[in-house]
Amino acid sequence: MNISLTIPKTLDVTAIRKEFPILNREIKGRPLIYLDNAATTQKPQQVIDAIVHYYTNYNANIHRGIHTLAEEATADFEQTRDVVKTFIGAGSREEIIFTKGTTESINLVAYTWGRKNIRAGDEIIISNMEHHSNIVPWQILCEEKEAILKVIPINDAGELILDEYEKMLGSKTKLVSIVHVSNALGTVNPVKQMITRAHEAGAVVMVDGAQSAVHLDIDVSDMDCDFFAFSAHKLYGPTGVGVLYGKKELLESMPPFQGGGEMIKEVTFNKTTFNDLPYKFEAGTPNIADVIAFKTAIRFIESIGKEKIREHEKELLEYAHQELEKIPGLHIIGKARDKISVVSFIIEKAHPQDIGILLDNRGIAVRTGHHCAQPLMDRFSIPGTARASFAVYNTKDELDELVNGLKRAVKILA
Ligand code: PLP
Repeated sequence: MNISLTIPKTLDVTAIRKEFPILNREIKGRPLIYLDNAATTQKPQQVIDAIVHYYTNYNANIHRGIHTLAEEATADFEQTRDVVKTFIGAGSREEIIFTKGTTESINLVAYTWGRKNIRAGDEIIISNMEHHSNIVPWQILCEEKEAILKVIPINDAGELILDEYEKMLGSKTKLVSIVHVSNALGTVNPVKQMITRAHEAGAVVMVDGAQSAVHLDIDVSDMDCDFFAFSAHKLYGPTGVGVLYGKKELLESMPPFQGGGEMIKEVTFNKTTFNDLPYKFEAGTPNIADVIAFKTAIRFIESIGKEKIREHEKELLEYAHQELEKIPGLHIIGKARDKISVVSFIIEKAHPQDIGILLDNRGIAVRTGHHCAQPLMDRFSIPGTARASFAVYNTKDELDELVNGLKRAVKILA
């Protein structure tokens, strides 16, 4: 007997949009069209409710109290660690460190692992498409240690030139820190392959997953990265929460990042012994409410399914490319073969900022500027781009409005 399952293939975007109260807003008399999702995503009601629920019912400091509120808050906070562990395929909950964002996660590694392991003459490899958060911490480290920062070049399509990467790897390479998905181009980098090659050269690998964690299936164990960083606010979660995943043996070998609070076992004026993982890296009162609400955001994503979200966003990206390229004088920056969810563009004779202002007048939110990737803008000899980036709640109708807004902008600015 043939049983045909009727699983809906496409998303019910109308229903999903209803979960995001901000999408009811009007901007300058028009419905908000939010296309700045690579900067931060909007939050579904259930995430907002989770924050309110915590403050209304069991606000307490965690880990230290024995009273009921402290126990409830601790249990809920720690449950997020388990949810994150499963979400990214980590081997154990001790490998999940809560930070305040991707930037802090990368800095944590630079200040602890980096300062312990990098010596004069050592080499750190990053790429030409990194966010400043994955450039500056390594630059500071290299300057302090007299180490060398090497940069993988990219081609005109916005893809890494892997042959050049291969040539850079050698016995002096101590760390490769690479973005998984470029925030300015949408390029998806072949991180698994790059990690294998780095490990063969004896290097440790950090992956900046700020843009990938929301779109791609992340399995850090399969990827075999040594560190992976991402931010909750780009996954429909609250701001002020990030994750650093690190392999247990590496985290154990690293000195603490900050001192105080939960990161100690015992303190005397002579000596302090440090707590076990993951608490060794979580000094002070963490962002309890937002960590708690983060798991609601992950459950929101999982309730829809990343694959379905990806398919929807792929359709939007293809449609955006097709329609934007019809606009005279518009050039898309970044045409990698493997690309997701971001379309960056420039328009001849128009400054990206002016494009952004004209679109905002029509209720359309895009990002303009260098996207915290100035060396990448230099690579394309441009001051910046306008960038539309997509999420699960965006629609083709919204893209039609973007195109109309841009056509109008071209007429005004020409
Ligand atoms: N890395 C990439 C690729 C990003 O897109 C961003 C933010 O846009 C960051 C790092 C920094 O993330 P956060 O500001 O959440 O620390």
